[in-house]
Formats: sequence, C-alpha cells, structure tokens
Amino acid sequence: MGLIVCGHCGRHIDEVETEKVTVLYGCCTNDSCRRGTRQGETENE
Ligand SMILES: [Zn+2]
Repeated sequence: MGLIVCGHCGRHIDEVETEKVTVLYGCCTNDSCRRGTRQGETENE
C-alpha cells in the first residue's frame, strides 16, 4: 500500500497498490498548492 500525500500541505490525496508501504508526494487540488513548486512525479496514474 502506498499513500499519496500533498507535498505542500500534507493532505491525503490517493492510495496506490505497492509491494511495500511507501509515501509518495504529489500535489492536491488546493490553489495555493498548485501554484507552488511543481512536483509532477506522482500525478494520477
Ligand atoms: Zn496541498
């Protein structure tokens, strides 16, 4: 199980199935977060 959380506000965004427990950082839909540093590595797949 992997958790995707916003790298800006820490908000839980989504979950993905992974072999190990991991935390991935993405960006939530908050305007203030979307205007922040782009971290597109964990966008919705
Ligand atoms: Zn956020």
